[in-house]
Amino acid sequence: MKKYDVAVVGAGPVGSTVARYIADEGYDVVMFERKRAVGIPLQCAGLLGKRIKDTNILPQQYILNKVYGAYLHSPSDNILKVSRKDPEAYVIDRVGYDKFLSEQAIDSGVELLLNHKVNSLNIKTGEVLVSNTNQSFKAEIVIGADGHSSCVSEKFNPQSKSVMAAQYLMDMRGDVFDIDNVHLYANANISPGFLWIIPITKSLVRIGLFANMDYNGLNRVLKEFIQSDDLYKHAKIIKKYHGFIPNYDPKKNLVNDRAILLGDAASQVKPTTGGGLMIGFECAKMASTTILRALQLEDQSILKEYENSHKKRFKSELRVQSEVQKIFGSLTNKDLDEMFLKLKEGNAEELISKYGDMDTQSTLIKEMIKNRLLFSIVPTLLTRRIGSLWK
Ligand SMILES: Cc1cc2nc3c(=O)[nH]c(=O)nc-3n(C[C@H](O)[C@H](O)[C@H](O)COP(=O)(O)OP(=O)(O)OC[C@H]3O[C@@H](n4cnc5c(N)ncnc54)[C@H](O)[C@@H]3O)c2cc1C
Repeated sequence: MKKYDVAVVGAGPVGSTVARYIADEGYDVVMFERKRAVGIPLQCAGLLGKRIKDTNILPQQYILNKVYGAYLHSPSDNILKVSRKDPEAYVIDRVGYDKFLSEQAIDSGVELLLNHKVNSLNIKTGEVLVSNTNQSFKAEIVIGADGHSSCVSEKFNPQSKSVMAAQYLMDMRGDVFDIDNVHLYANANISPGFLWIIPITKSLVRIGLFANMDYNGLNRVLKEFIQSDDLYKHAKIIKKYHGFIPNYDPKKNLVNDRAILLGDAASQVKPTTGGGLMIGFECAKMASTTILRALQLEDQSILKEYENSHKKRFKSELRVQSEVQKIFGSLTNKDLDEMFLKLKEGNAEELISKYGDMDTQSTLIKEMIKNRLLFSIVPTLLTRRIGSLWK
Protein backbone atom coordinates (compact mmCIF):
# COMPACT_ATOMS: atom_id res chain seq x y z
CA MET A 1 0.00 0.00 0.00
CA LYS A 2 1.46 3.37 -1.06
CA LYS A 3 1.85 5.87 1.78
CA TYR A 4 1.65 9.67 1.74
CA ASP A 5 1.62 12.50 4.24
CA VAL A 6 -1.61 13.90 2.80
CA ALA A 7 -4.27 12.56 0.44
CA VAL A 8 -6.59 15.08 -1.21
CA VAL A 9 -9.87 13.72 -2.59
CA GLY A 10 -10.98 15.91 -5.53
CA ALA A 11 -8.87 18.01 -7.91
CA GLY A 12 -11.29 20.93 -8.06
CA PRO A 13 -9.93 24.46 -7.56
CA VAL A 14 -9.96 24.18 -3.77
CA GLY A 15 -8.35 20.71 -3.65
CA SER A 16 -5.56 21.74 -6.05
CA THR A 17 -4.90 24.89 -4.02
CA VAL A 18 -4.60 23.18 -0.64
CA ALA A 19 -2.53 20.35 -2.17
CA ARG A 20 -0.07 22.93 -3.55
CA TYR A 21 0.29 24.74 -0.21
CA ILE A 22 1.20 21.49 1.55
CA ALA A 23 3.50 20.12 -1.17
CA ASP A 24 5.32 23.49 -1.23
CA GLU A 25 6.51 22.69 2.30
CA GLY A 26 8.07 19.41 1.17
CA TYR A 27 5.37 16.92 2.18
CA ASP A 28 4.25 13.98 0.02
CA VAL A 29 0.81 14.75 -1.34
CA VAL A 30 -1.42 12.63 -3.58
CA MET A 31 -4.59 14.03 -5.17
CA PHE A 32 -7.35 11.73 -6.47
CA GLU A 33 -9.70 12.92 -9.20
CA ARG A 34 -12.55 10.72 -10.40
CA LYS A 35 -12.73 12.41 -13.82
CA ARG A 36 -10.35 11.83 -16.71
CA ALA A 37 -9.62 15.55 -17.01
CA VAL A 38 -9.62 18.42 -14.53
CA GLY A 39 -12.13 21.27 -14.89
CA ILE A 40 -14.69 19.80 -17.25
CA PRO A 41 -17.61 20.03 -17.57
CA LEU A 42 -17.89 23.71 -16.58
CA GLN A 43 -20.18 24.14 -13.57
CA CYS A 44 -19.70 27.81 -12.77
CA ALA A 45 -20.66 31.33 -13.79
CA GLY A 46 -17.02 32.24 -13.23
CA LEU A 47 -17.63 35.51 -11.41
CA LEU A 48 -14.97 36.27 -8.81
CA GLY A 49 -14.70 39.31 -6.54
CA LYS A 50 -11.66 41.54 -7.05
CA ARG A 51 -10.09 40.29 -3.81
CA ILE A 52 -9.29 37.01 -5.57
CA LYS A 53 -5.92 38.53 -6.39
CA ASP A 54 -5.06 38.62 -2.66
CA THR A 55 -6.48 35.15 -2.11
CA ASN A 56 -5.02 32.95 -4.85
CA ILE A 57 -2.90 33.19 -8.00
CA LEU A 58 -4.95 34.34 -11.00
CA PRO A 59 -2.91 34.90 -14.16
CA GLN A 60 -4.26 37.54 -16.54
CA GLN A 61 -4.89 34.98 -19.30
CA TYR A 62 -7.83 33.46 -17.36
CA ILE A 63 -9.61 36.81 -16.95
CA LEU A 64 -12.14 37.07 -19.79
CA ASN A 65 -13.78 40.31 -18.66
CA LYS A 66 -13.71 42.88 -15.85
CA VAL A 67 -16.97 43.96 -14.27
CA TYR A 68 -17.53 47.38 -12.67
CA GLY A 69 -21.09 47.11 -11.45
CA ALA A 70 -24.53 45.52 -11.63
CA TYR A 71 -28.10 46.18 -12.65
CA LEU A 72 -30.43 44.67 -10.05
CA HIS A 73 -33.89 43.96 -11.49
CA SER A 74 -37.12 43.54 -9.50
CA PRO A 75 -39.89 41.27 -10.87
CA SER A 76 -41.61 44.27 -12.60
CA ASP A 77 -38.23 45.56 -13.68
CA ASN A 78 -37.64 48.37 -11.24
CA ILE A 79 -33.89 48.68 -11.63
CA LEU A 80 -31.16 49.58 -9.18
CA LYS A 81 -27.82 50.41 -10.73
CA VAL A 82 -24.70 50.03 -8.64
CA SER A 83 -21.20 50.69 -9.88
CA ARG A 84 -17.63 51.47 -8.99
CA LYS A 85 -14.82 53.34 -10.73
CA ASP A 86 -12.52 50.30 -10.55
CA PRO A 87 -13.27 46.69 -11.46
CA GLU A 88 -15.34 44.99 -8.76
CA ALA A 89 -15.18 41.47 -10.17
CA TYR A 90 -13.61 39.29 -12.85
CA VAL A 91 -15.30 36.92 -15.27
CA ILE A 92 -12.95 33.99 -15.55
CA ASP A 93 -12.30 31.03 -17.81
CA ARG A 94 -13.10 28.54 -15.09
CA VAL A 95 -12.14 25.42 -17.06
CA GLY A 96 -8.72 26.86 -17.89
CA TYR A 97 -8.28 28.14 -14.33
CA ASP A 98 -9.07 24.75 -12.73
CA LYS A 99 -6.50 23.12 -15.06
CA PHE A 100 -3.96 25.83 -14.23
CA LEU A 101 -4.40 25.29 -10.48
CA SER A 102 -3.93 21.53 -10.85
CA GLU A 103 -0.77 22.08 -12.94
CA GLN A 104 0.56 24.43 -10.25
CA ALA A 105 -0.04 21.67 -7.71
CA ILE A 106 1.85 19.16 -9.90
CA ASP A 107 4.72 21.64 -10.29
CA SER A 108 4.90 21.81 -6.49
CA GLY A 109 5.29 18.02 -6.32
CA VAL A 110 1.69 16.80 -5.92
CA GLU A 111 0.97 13.42 -7.53
CA LEU A 112 -2.30 13.84 -9.41
CA LEU A 113 -4.12 10.59 -10.14
CA LEU A 114 -6.87 11.11 -12.71
CA ASN A 115 -9.65 8.57 -13.24
CA HIS A 116 -9.29 7.58 -9.57
CA LYS A 117 -12.64 7.60 -7.81
CA VAL A 118 -12.35 7.32 -4.06
CA ASN A 119 -14.99 4.92 -2.92
CA SER A 120 -14.37 4.54 0.74
CA LEU A 121 -11.97 5.63 3.44
CA ASN A 122 -11.16 4.91 7.02
CA ILE A 123 -10.86 8.23 8.83
CA LYS A 124 -9.17 6.58 11.84
CA THR A 125 -6.34 4.90 9.89
CA GLY A 126 -6.20 7.20 6.83
CA GLU A 127 -6.75 4.32 4.39
CA VAL A 128 -8.31 5.29 1.08
CA LEU A 129 -9.80 2.83 -1.39
CA VAL A 130 -10.04 3.68 -5.09
CA SER A 131 -12.62 1.31 -6.52
CA ASN A 132 -12.16 1.62 -10.27
CA THR A 133 -8.44 0.77 -10.03
CA ASN A 134 -8.88 -1.46 -7.00
CA GLN A 135 -5.97 0.18 -5.16
CA SER A 136 -5.50 1.18 -1.54
CA PHE A 137 -3.50 4.14 -0.27
CA LYS A 138 -2.67 5.42 3.18
CA ALA A 139 -2.16 8.98 4.41
CA GLU A 140 -1.58 10.73 7.73
CA ILE A 141 -4.30 13.23 6.82
CA VAL A 142 -7.14 12.94 4.27
CA ILE A 143 -8.62 16.16 2.85
CA GLY A 144 -12.16 15.94 1.48
CA ALA A 145 -12.30 18.52 -1.33
CA ASP A 146 -14.66 16.36 -3.33
CA GLY A 147 -17.52 18.79 -3.89
CA HIS A 148 -21.17 18.96 -2.89
CA SER A 149 -21.81 15.23 -2.47
CA SER A 150 -18.53 14.52 -0.69
CA CYS A 151 -17.86 10.90 0.24
CA VAL A 152 -15.41 12.14 2.90
CA SER A 153 -18.05 14.37 4.52
CA GLU A 154 -20.53 11.50 4.62
CA LYS A 155 -18.18 9.60 6.92
CA PHE A 156 -19.04 11.98 9.76
CA ASN A 157 -21.95 14.16 8.62
CA PRO A 158 -25.48 13.53 7.43
CA GLN A 159 -25.93 13.78 3.65
CA SER A 160 -25.57 17.44 2.60
CA LYS A 161 -28.41 19.33 0.96
CA SER A 162 -27.85 21.31 -2.24
CA VAL A 163 -29.79 23.35 -4.77
CA MET A 164 -29.45 23.00 -8.49
CA ALA A 165 -28.08 25.63 -10.86
CA ALA A 166 -28.33 25.79 -14.65
CA GLN A 167 -26.59 28.03 -17.12
CA TYR A 168 -26.51 28.69 -20.89
CA LEU A 169 -23.62 30.11 -22.85
CA MET A 170 -25.34 32.32 -25.44
CA ASP A 171 -24.14 33.95 -28.59
CA MET A 172 -26.25 37.09 -29.04
CA ARG A 173 -25.21 37.37 -32.73
CA GLY A 174 -24.61 41.08 -32.48
CA ASP A 175 -23.13 43.48 -29.98
CA VAL A 176 -25.99 43.93 -27.55
CA PHE A 177 -24.46 43.83 -24.07
CA ASP A 178 -22.63 46.43 -22.03
CA ILE A 179 -19.65 44.37 -20.87
CA ASP A 180 -18.99 46.45 -17.76
CA ASN A 181 -22.04 45.26 -15.83
CA VAL A 182 -23.75 42.07 -14.79
CA HIS A 183 -27.55 41.82 -14.51
CA LEU A 184 -29.20 40.10 -11.55
CA TYR A 185 -32.94 39.34 -11.51
CA ALA A 186 -34.94 38.75 -8.32
CA ASN A 187 -38.24 36.89 -8.50
CA ALA A 188 -40.30 35.14 -5.82
CA ASN A 189 -40.71 32.10 -8.11
CA ILE A 190 -37.00 31.35 -7.82
CA SER A 191 -36.23 32.94 -4.43
CA PRO A 192 -33.99 32.81 -2.54
CA GLY A 193 -32.08 32.03 -5.75
CA PHE A 194 -31.78 34.54 -8.60
CA LEU A 195 -31.09 34.74 -12.32
CA TRP A 196 -27.85 36.21 -13.68
CA ILE A 197 -26.51 37.55 -16.95
CA ILE A 198 -22.74 37.73 -17.03
CA PRO A 199 -21.17 39.25 -20.15
CA ILE A 200 -17.97 37.71 -21.46
CA THR A 201 -17.91 39.91 -24.56
CA LYS A 202 -20.55 42.26 -26.01
CA SER A 203 -22.16 39.31 -27.77
CA LEU A 204 -21.24 36.33 -25.61
CA VAL A 205 -22.99 35.91 -22.24
CA ARG A 206 -23.55 33.37 -19.48
CA ILE A 207 -27.21 33.32 -18.47
CA GLY A 208 -28.08 31.16 -15.51
CA LEU A 209 -29.93 30.75 -12.26
CA PHE A 210 -30.04 28.73 -9.08
CA ALA A 211 -33.31 27.90 -7.38
CA ASN A 212 -34.99 25.24 -5.36
CA MET A 213 -36.26 23.28 -8.38
CA ASP A 214 -35.19 20.41 -10.59
CA TYR A 215 -33.30 20.64 -13.89
CA ASN A 216 -36.49 20.82 -15.99
CA GLY A 217 -37.83 23.61 -13.81
CA LEU A 218 -34.61 25.61 -14.14
CA ASN A 219 -34.61 25.15 -17.93
CA ARG A 220 -38.23 26.23 -18.13
CA VAL A 221 -37.46 29.47 -16.24
CA LEU A 222 -34.41 30.17 -18.42
CA LYS A 223 -36.33 29.52 -21.65
CA GLU A 224 -39.26 31.71 -20.55
CA PHE A 225 -36.84 34.48 -19.63
CA ILE A 226 -35.14 34.34 -23.02
CA GLN A 227 -38.40 34.12 -24.96
CA SER A 228 -39.91 37.08 -23.11
CA ASP A 229 -37.35 39.55 -24.44
CA ASP A 230 -36.81 40.56 -28.10
CA LEU A 231 -33.14 41.05 -27.29
CA TYR A 232 -32.70 37.28 -27.55
CA LYS A 233 -34.65 36.88 -30.81
CA HIS A 234 -31.54 36.08 -32.83
CA ALA A 235 -29.48 34.64 -30.00
CA LYS A 236 -28.24 31.07 -30.04
CA ILE A 237 -27.63 28.75 -27.10
CA ILE A 238 -24.11 27.41 -27.61
CA LYS A 239 -23.83 25.23 -24.51
CA LYS A 240 -25.93 24.20 -21.53
CA TYR A 241 -24.44 23.51 -18.13
CA HIS A 242 -25.78 22.51 -14.78
CA GLY A 243 -24.44 21.76 -11.32
CA PHE A 244 -25.19 21.79 -7.62
CA ILE A 245 -24.63 24.44 -4.98
CA PRO A 246 -24.47 23.14 -1.39
CA ASN A 247 -26.68 24.80 1.20
CA TYR A 248 -24.65 26.55 3.87
CA ASP A 249 -24.78 24.33 6.95
CA PRO A 250 -23.47 25.87 10.21
CA LYS A 251 -23.79 22.47 11.94
CA LYS A 252 -21.47 20.62 9.60
CA ASN A 253 -18.44 19.00 11.26
CA LEU A 254 -15.31 19.97 9.34
CA VAL A 255 -12.85 17.67 11.13
CA ASN A 256 -12.97 14.11 12.41
CA ASP A 257 -9.96 11.95 13.27
CA ARG A 258 -7.61 12.20 10.25
CA ALA A 259 -10.16 13.77 7.91
CA ILE A 260 -10.73 17.45 7.17
CA LEU A 261 -13.24 19.07 4.79
CA LEU A 262 -12.78 21.99 2.42
CA GLY A 263 -14.68 23.91 -0.27
CA ASP A 264 -18.09 22.66 -1.42
CA ALA A 265 -17.47 19.43 0.52
CA ALA A 266 -17.48 21.60 3.66
CA SER A 267 -20.52 23.60 2.39
CA GLN A 268 -18.25 26.65 2.29
CA VAL A 269 -20.47 28.76 0.06
CA LYS A 270 -22.00 32.19 0.46
CA PRO A 271 -25.69 31.65 1.22
CA THR A 272 -26.81 34.76 -0.71
CA THR A 273 -24.94 34.21 -3.98
CA GLY A 274 -23.95 30.54 -3.96
CA GLY A 275 -20.35 31.61 -4.69
CA GLY A 276 -17.80 29.18 -3.29
CA LEU A 277 -14.43 29.98 -4.81
CA MET A 278 -13.24 32.87 -2.67
CA ILE A 279 -14.31 31.32 0.61
CA GLY A 280 -12.96 27.93 -0.49
CA PHE A 281 -9.55 29.47 -1.31
CA GLU A 282 -9.42 31.35 1.97
CA CYS A 283 -10.25 28.13 3.84
CA ALA A 284 -7.58 26.25 1.84
CA LYS A 285 -4.98 28.68 3.25
CA MET A 286 -6.44 28.41 6.74
CA ALA A 287 -6.59 24.59 6.64
CA SER A 288 -3.09 24.23 5.22
CA THR A 289 -1.62 26.20 8.15
CA THR A 290 -3.27 23.82 10.59
CA ILE A 291 -2.40 20.69 8.57
CA LEU A 292 1.25 21.70 8.35
CA ARG A 293 1.40 22.15 12.13
CA ALA A 294 -0.29 18.76 12.66
CA LEU A 295 2.26 17.11 10.35
CA GLN A 296 5.23 18.82 11.97
CA LEU A 297 4.11 17.88 15.48
CA GLU A 298 2.79 14.48 14.38
CA ASP A 299 -0.42 15.24 16.23
CA GLN A 300 -3.63 14.96 14.23
CA SER A 301 -5.71 16.34 17.13
CA ILE A 302 -4.38 19.78 16.08
CA LEU A 303 -6.70 19.59 13.04
CA LYS A 304 -9.58 20.73 15.28
CA GLU A 305 -7.97 24.20 15.35
CA TYR A 306 -9.11 24.65 11.74
CA GLU A 307 -12.72 24.25 12.82
CA ASN A 308 -12.24 27.00 15.41
CA SER A 309 -10.46 29.44 13.10
CA HIS A 310 -13.11 28.80 10.46
CA LYS A 311 -15.87 29.67 12.93
CA LYS A 312 -14.07 32.78 14.10
CA ARG A 313 -13.56 34.06 10.56
CA PHE A 314 -16.87 33.17 8.90
CA LYS A 315 -19.62 32.41 11.42
CA SER A 316 -21.03 35.90 11.81
CA GLU A 317 -20.81 36.83 8.09
CA LEU A 318 -22.46 33.58 7.01
CA ARG A 319 -25.19 33.94 9.65
CA VAL A 320 -26.04 37.41 8.37
CA GLN A 321 -26.13 36.11 4.80
CA SER A 322 -28.36 33.19 5.87
CA GLU A 323 -30.82 35.61 7.50
CA VAL A 324 -30.85 37.82 4.40
CA GLN A 325 -31.47 34.72 2.28
CA LYS A 326 -34.38 33.65 4.52
CA ILE A 327 -35.95 37.11 4.28
CA PHE A 328 -35.64 37.08 0.48
CA GLY A 329 -37.21 33.64 0.39
CA SER A 330 -40.26 34.93 2.27
CA LEU A 331 -40.98 37.95 0.02
CA THR A 332 -43.66 37.95 -2.68
CA ASN A 333 -43.12 39.60 -6.07
CA LYS A 334 -45.19 42.56 -4.82
CA ASP A 335 -42.93 42.84 -1.75
CA LEU A 336 -39.84 42.67 -3.95
CA ASP A 337 -41.14 45.39 -6.29
CA GLU A 338 -41.98 47.65 -3.34
CA MET A 339 -38.62 46.95 -1.76
CA PHE A 340 -36.77 47.98 -4.92
CA LEU A 341 -38.81 51.23 -5.14
CA LYS A 342 -38.12 52.07 -1.50
CA LEU A 343 -34.44 51.27 -1.93
CA LYS A 344 -34.29 53.62 -4.92
CA GLU A 345 -36.11 56.39 -3.03
CA GLY A 346 -33.80 55.86 -0.01
CA ASN A 347 -30.73 56.40 -2.17
CA ALA A 348 -29.65 52.79 -1.78
CA GLU A 349 -27.83 52.80 -5.11
CA GLU A 350 -25.23 55.13 -3.63
CA LEU A 351 -25.02 53.13 -0.41
CA ILE A 352 -24.66 49.79 -2.21
CA SER A 353 -22.11 51.28 -4.62
CA LYS A 354 -20.09 52.48 -1.63
CA TYR A 355 -20.44 49.56 0.83
CA GLY A 356 -21.64 46.66 -1.34
CA ASP A 357 -19.23 43.76 -1.69
CA MET A 358 -19.72 40.51 -3.56
CA ASP A 359 -18.15 38.51 -0.77
CA THR A 360 -18.92 40.32 2.47
CA GLN A 361 -22.44 41.64 2.78
CA SER A 362 -22.57 42.30 6.53
CA THR A 363 -20.87 45.71 6.14
CA LEU A 364 -23.61 46.89 3.78
CA ILE A 365 -26.39 45.51 6.02
CA LYS A 366 -24.88 47.32 9.03
CA GLU A 367 -24.84 50.59 7.06
CA MET A 368 -28.46 50.03 5.98
CA ILE A 369 -29.46 49.49 9.61
CA LYS A 370 -27.48 52.58 10.68
CA ASN A 371 -29.29 54.92 8.35
CA ARG A 372 -32.63 53.17 8.91
CA LEU A 373 -32.99 52.12 5.27
CA LEU A 374 -33.48 48.48 6.24
CA PHE A 375 -36.39 49.43 8.54
CA SER A 376 -38.22 50.95 5.60
CA ILE A 377 -37.92 47.88 3.39
CA VAL A 378 -38.38 44.87 5.62
CA PRO A 379 -40.71 44.37 8.57
CA THR A 380 -39.28 45.67 11.85
CA LEU A 381 -39.21 42.21 13.41
CA LEU A 382 -36.92 40.90 10.70
CA THR A 383 -34.68 43.95 10.90
CA ARG A 384 -34.27 43.36 14.64
CA ARG A 385 -33.43 39.73 13.94
CA ILE A 386 -30.61 40.81 11.64
CA GLY A 387 -29.49 43.62 13.97
CA SER A 388 -29.27 41.19 16.89
CA LEU A 389 -26.68 39.10 15.07
CA TRP A 390 -23.97 41.55 16.10
CA LYS A 391 -24.98 41.63 19.76
C1 LIG B 1 -23.90 26.88 -12.18
C2 LIG B 1 -22.96 27.29 -11.09
C3 LIG B 1 -22.44 28.58 -11.09
C4 LIG B 1 -21.52 28.96 -10.10
N1 LIG B 1 -20.99 30.22 -10.18
C5 LIG B 1 -20.05 30.60 -9.28
C6 LIG B 1 -19.42 31.87 -9.39
O1 LIG B 1 -19.71 32.66 -10.30
N2 LIG B 1 -18.48 32.22 -8.45
C7 LIG B 1 -18.12 31.36 -7.44
O2 LIG B 1 -17.28 31.72 -6.60
N3 LIG B 1 -18.70 30.14 -7.33
C8 LIG B 1 -19.63 29.73 -8.22
N4 LIG B 1 -20.20 28.48 -8.14
C9 LIG B 1 -19.73 27.58 -7.05
C10 LIG B 1 -18.34 27.01 -7.39
O3 LIG B 1 -18.36 26.43 -8.67
C11 LIG B 1 -17.95 25.99 -6.32
O4 LIG B 1 -18.06 26.59 -5.05
C12 LIG B 1 -16.51 25.47 -6.55
O5 LIG B 1 -16.43 24.70 -7.71
C13 LIG B 1 -16.08 24.64 -5.35
O6 LIG B 1 -14.80 24.09 -5.61
P1 LIG B 1 -14.35 22.74 -4.91
O7 LIG B 1 -12.94 22.51 -5.36
O8 LIG B 1 -14.67 22.77 -3.47
O9 LIG B 1 -15.32 21.62 -5.52
P2 LIG B 1 -15.56 21.15 -7.01
O10 LIG B 1 -15.26 22.23 -7.97
O11 LIG B 1 -16.92 20.54 -7.02
O12 LIG B 1 -14.48 20.01 -7.22
C14 LIG B 1 -14.60 18.74 -6.60
C15 LIG B 1 -13.81 17.73 -7.40
O13 LIG B 1 -13.84 16.50 -6.70
C16 LIG B 1 -14.03 15.45 -7.65
N5 LIG B 1 -14.61 14.30 -6.93
C17 LIG B 1 -15.85 14.22 -6.39
N6 LIG B 1 -16.02 13.02 -5.76
C18 LIG B 1 -14.84 12.35 -5.91
C19 LIG B 1 -14.38 11.08 -5.50
N7 LIG B 1 -15.17 10.26 -4.78
N8 LIG B 1 -13.13 10.70 -5.81
C20 LIG B 1 -12.30 11.51 -6.53
N9 LIG B 1 -12.69 12.74 -6.97
C21 LIG B 1 -13.94 13.16 -6.66
C22 LIG B 1 -14.96 16.05 -8.68
O14 LIG B 1 -14.91 15.36 -9.91
C23 LIG B 1 -14.41 17.48 -8.78
O15 LIG B 1 -13.40 17.59 -9.75
C24 LIG B 1 -21.13 28.06 -9.08
C25 LIG B 1 -21.68 26.77 -9.05
C26 LIG B 1 -22.58 26.38 -10.04
C27 LIG B 1 -23.12 24.98 -10.01
